[in-house]
Amino acid sequence: MADETNVEEESTTKTIHVEDVITVGELAAKLDIPATALITELMKNGVMATVNERIDFDTAQIVTAEIDATVEVVKKETEAKKHDRRVKREVSAKGIDRPPVIAVMGHVDHGKTSLLDAIRESDVAEGEAGGITQHISAYQITHNDRVMTFLDTPGHEAFAALRQHGADLTDVAVIVVAADDGVKPQTKEAIRFAQNSGVKMVVALNKIDKPGADANRVKQELSEANLLTEEWGGDTVVVEVSATKKTGIDKLLDMILLIADVEELKAEVDGIPGEGIIIEAHKEQGRGAVATALVEHGMLRPGHLIVAGGAYAKIRTLENTNGKAIKEAGPSTPVRISGFKTLPRFGDTFTVQKDEKEARKLAEENSQKENDGRLDMSSTQLIAMIDKQREQQAFNVIIKSDVQGSLKSVVDSLATLENKEVIARVVGKGVGDITETDVMMAASSGATIYGFNVEVAISVKKLAAREGVVIRAYKVIYELIDDIKDNMSELLAPEVIENEAGRLLVRGVFMIGRNQVICGGEVTKGKISPGLIAKISRDKVEIAEAELTKVQKQQSEVKEVVEGDMCGIELKTTARVTVEEGDRIDFVSREVVSRKL
Ligand code: GDP
Repeated sequence: MADETNVEEESTTKTIHVEDVITVGELAAKLDIPATALITELMKNGVMATVNERIDFDTAQIVTAEIDATVEVVKKETEAKKHDRRVKREVSAKGIDRPPVIAVMGHVDHGKTSLLDAIRESDVAEGEAGGITQHISAYQITHNDRVMTFLDTPGHEAFAALRQHGADLTDVAVIVVAADDGVKPQTKEAIRFAQNSGVKMVVALNKIDKPGADANRVKQELSEANLLTEEWGGDTVVVEVSATKKTGIDKLLDMILLIADVEELKAEVDGIPGEGIIIEAHKEQGRGAVATALVEHGMLRPGHLIVAGGAYAKIRTLENTNGKAIKEAGPSTPVRISGFKTLPRFGDTFTVQKDEKEARKLAEENSQKENDGRLDMSSTQLIAMIDKQREQQAFNVIIKSDVQGSLKSVVDSLATLENKEVIARVVGKGVGDITETDVMMAASSGATIYGFNVEVAISVKKLAAREGVVIRAYKVIYELIDDIKDNMSELLAPEVIENEAGRLLVRGVFMIGRNQVICGGEVTKGKISPGLIAKISRDKVEIAEAELTKVQKQQSEVKEVVEGDMCGIELKTTARVTVEEGDRIDFVSREVVSRKL
């Protein structure tokens, strides 16, 4: 009976409905898991999102599948809202051809930046412009008389982040794989992202100049990662390139164009106001907020009023990405725009408005909508944050304080504790007593609440206990900081310390098996006993490591031998190790110790 029930349960697939976007907190609640677990899973996928941030449907689907295969995420259709252009525009028969938009993705260090540089330098016209070095987030080149737009924000983080905002602006994804390193986790993620959004891919097999380059191996690995190359019966084109030696770049560009041509890339220009996406925004001295935007449809001209999320601008200057003033920009053109009153956000869609009052009103409405959701950060900040996230562990905290001054000193002190490995991430802060909302926020972001000179009501304490949230209240700042420091220290990866135990000089080898070596020799230093790690060296170079499993002295097994003893030893190896007479074996014990910040 019991068995039958089990089977029944296992075969039931839970279905959850998700709209175009959902906040991390809402999805976690639907999945019935802690938000922290979901945040962790998202990070593994290169998406850094806090509990209140929205992720798109595809991302929700991918992470859910990884967390729990029995849950199916199904799209809940909603009416396309006004000003929400997440749904792709249907292009009419009057549509014009537009250049392809290309993103470069792949594992860290596989050469995305180098490749983007090489492509940019391959453009003759660009060379004449005199090698602008400032960082820009997109550029255009001309190849075979055709214009191509590259998103110069390497890494699928940018791509993921754009998608997270519902933006779908890439036509072709170049998956960069280092030929000497092969398919790595981020390669797989990049492939998944592209596949999930129906973006065509071409593989740039980079670093082909390196001695360790192995194209066939990478192709096989790609097929294992669900990307079938032509050799493996699929249709994914692989182009061998070297970004540093600048070989294969032309062929790669040819291939990208070929792939782009399969899709008819069209855009609407007639009779519609310009629209597109903000891909970068920052403040520039003397110019105020400057944004890089990619036009998708229509035309953009100086003087146009545009609204991007909660920001609006009367376009003061319109420049191409070489910094040259232009009179108009059409589809797939990246432009730099000045004239924004406030910084627009990465991933915001923009539209040209007719009336200034209307524009202002729309920006205000958007700004209000945004306040209950997204994080306020630019692409660069977002990417920096994701990059950091990879290596850094975070201790999430919510800080509540009696006055603004003390709140600031706590937050400032925490910033000084940050290092490469660990950070105290302030997910919430404010002046005033600790409230039930703070507790709920802590619960969903896995944070600990720290109060400085504030009260905690009984009802709040009860809720915290129920939600498993820790609240720590202090009246002395440095005690509060010390507490956080201790918690951060716990997140530091422990240190492995090696203690030397003894040394043996090999005088005879009795048996070498696949995973075993039996040999004998003289203990020339210290003591050796089973359980120690053996580091085998020949001519002063360490050749292998093994585990000491048995020690024998005069034919009988002993617990320990000391300096001066002749003994026999048995080693367990992970691979076949050829120990020879004259080899030196150093025995060490390893211990794991925790570290302090
Ligand atoms: P990213 O992290 O993917 O942007 O990688 P980078 O472009 O920063 O490249 C990482 C490292 O690989 C740098 O030291 C580059 O000089 C090197 N590199 C990139 N492309 C090539 C290549 O084609 N051949 C060789 N030999 N080295 C390369």
